[in-house]
Amino acid sequence: MNDDGGAGEPKVSSTVDFDANGKHFGHLSIPHSRNDSGWGAVHLPIVSIRNGDGPVLVFTGGNHGDEYEGPIALMKLVRALDPAEVTGQIIAIPALNFPAIMAGTRLSPIDGVNMNRAFPGRRDGSVSQMIAHFVQHRILPRCDAVCDIHSGGKSMYFSPFGAYHNLPNKAVMEKSRAATLAFGAPIGLELVELDAGGMLDTAVEEMDKIFVSTELGGGGTASPRTVAIADAGVRNLLAHFGLVDGKPITRESLGLAPTRMMHMPDPGSFTICDDRGIFESLVDLDQAVSEGDPIGQIHFPERPQREPVVYRASASGTVIGLTHKVLMEPGDFLSLVARDM
Ligand SMILES: [Zn+2]
Repeated sequence: MNDDGGAGEPKVSSTVDFDANGKHFGHLSIPHSRNDSGWGAVHLPIVSIRNGDGPVLVFTGGNHGDEYEGPIALMKLVRALDPAEVTGQIIAIPALNFPAIMAGTRLSPIDGVNMNRAFPGRRDGSVSQMIAHFVQHRILPRCDAVCDIHSGGKSMYFSPFGAYHNLPNKAVMEKSRAATLAFGAPIGLELVELDAGGMLDTAVEEMDKIFVSTELGGGGTASPRTVAIADAGVRNLLAHFGLVDGKPITRESLGLAPTRMMHMPDPGSFTICDDRGIFESLVDLDQAVSEGDPIGQIHFPERPQREPVVYRASASGTVIGLTHKVLMEPGDFLSLVARDM
């Protein structure tokens, strides 16, 4: 773990006292001196709803600034919740990368940092690194579990899934799997990351705490269906962890198909582009593919006479993620294929 910026008190301060009972809307203040505000700061909204001792659950949305189901569901949740109906504490950060949310960009417009590669952060780093450092050292140590709500953003879209990772600590992995099931998305995925370094996920898991992630849609949009999945998911987690009375509302009780548990047993689950050109997708989300089936093809606008390069599935399964870009470069994500467990 690269934590050479971790020593000392965070430079970030909070207007919320996380030990106080009741519902508190406040903000983190992240120093940000700039041309138009010499002694300025970024005010990042944060909410604590606490009623005595009990489980502590952290919800984050807007880790990437072009993913909207999380911010929408969390703002609705914290407005609606009455502390009297809670046992324990909910800490909600609807827009973890607040500058990115306000700009509608995946990465922070201030420092160009991907918040989900910034952990464990730096005390004396850039704005995003200071946010990560505060969360790492002041929020995560307090909590039992974290739910970080993602969607595909402007460049990807997904068949909505909740996700956990295959962890060396099998007891924590089993709890994360159970929480993913309780969230109740149409798919529950045992996710293998392309690059787990610097992720909030990894920071939480290295503390042997429960972590649930999601990918609920994408394309830089939020639909009634995907927001409803987020709304139900956060409520279900409150019940699952005993923060509110009652049990999670199962998909079956709503007449829906049970959560489809999937995994990525093949290294070839991701298809990555190696050409520059226009991508024509030949599959849709939720389509079954066999190894070798065409996923899509790249056309070359500078050479119309050239045959397109066909990209094929290197694993069999179901397409649950696709690029939302068309103009491709080498290294771009094209598709994600997962398989039923
Ligand atoms: Zn994301």
